[in-house]
Amino acid sequence: MAFQTPPHHISAITTVLPAPSGAPHDIYHEVGPYETLWRISTIYSVDMATIMKVNHLTDKTQLKKGMKLLIPNTRGPRANIPLFPTTRWTHIVIHHTATDQGSAFTIDGLHQQRGWENGMGYDFLIDNGTRGKTSGQIEVGPRWMKQMDGAHTKQGDWNKKAIGIAVVGNYSETGLPDKMFDSLVFLVVTLKGFYRIPDKNIVGHRDVPGAATECPGKFFPWNEFKRRIKAF
Ligand SMILES: [Zn+2]
Repeated sequence: MAFQTPPHHISAITTVLPAPSGAPHDIYHEVGPYETLWRISTIYSVDMATIMKVNHLTDKTQLKKGMKLLIPNTRGPRANIPLFPTTRWTHIVIHHTATDQGSAFTIDGLHQQRGWENGMGYDFLIDNGTRGKTSGQIEVGPRWMKQMDGAHTKQGDWNKKAIGIAVVGNYSETGLPDKMFDSLVFLVVTLKGFYRIPDKNIVGHRDVPGAATECPGKFFPWNEFKRRIKAF
C-alpha cells in the first residue's frame, strides 16, 4: 500500500516522549502499515527531507509498507502516541501475540491472511526487539490511525469500545521484559488519562466475559501492572 495521510476529518493530538539518550547512530526502519513519513520523522527526530534524501526518495508516494529506510544519526525511536478526541473508547484490552517475533508489519500481514482486510487487529503493538524493532518500541496500527473498530476481542461490542494493545511475545512461557513493561504502562496511562478510562475497564483479554483464553499469558505481571497504572 502506498503512503497515505489520515482522512482529513480525523485530527490527532500527539503525546511524545523525549528521544532516548545515547550516541546518535544510523538504523534501518521497516515501514509499518499506514505509517507516514511524518510519523517516522517524529519518532526518530530526523527531518523528512533528510530521510528522503538518504533513501533516494523523490516523492512521499514512494514510501511503501515493508520498505527498509535508512534513518541517519538518530538516538532511536521515542514514543509518539496519536490521540483522537472522541468518547467511543471506554475500555482497554491487553493481549499478547503468542508469537516469538513480530512487528506491526508482520502482524498486519498475518491478520490480512486471516481475511481481515483492514489488517492488524490491535490498535497498538509493543515490540520485543525482533524484526528490526527496539524492545519496548510502540507501534501504532492502521485501525487506530483511521479510528476503526478493532479485531482483537470478538465478544460483544468490545471491538467497538475497547482499545486493543498487544505485547509481542508469549507470556504463557516467560515474563515480560522491563522495557516492554515500561512502554506498556506509559501507553496505557496516556490513553486512560486522555479518554478518562477507569482502571476497572482496563482488562486482560482473558478477563473479558466469554473469552476462553489465557491471553496475555499466565506470566504477564498483572498485579504489578494494575499497581503501576493506578498510581496515575
Ligand atoms: Zn488476546
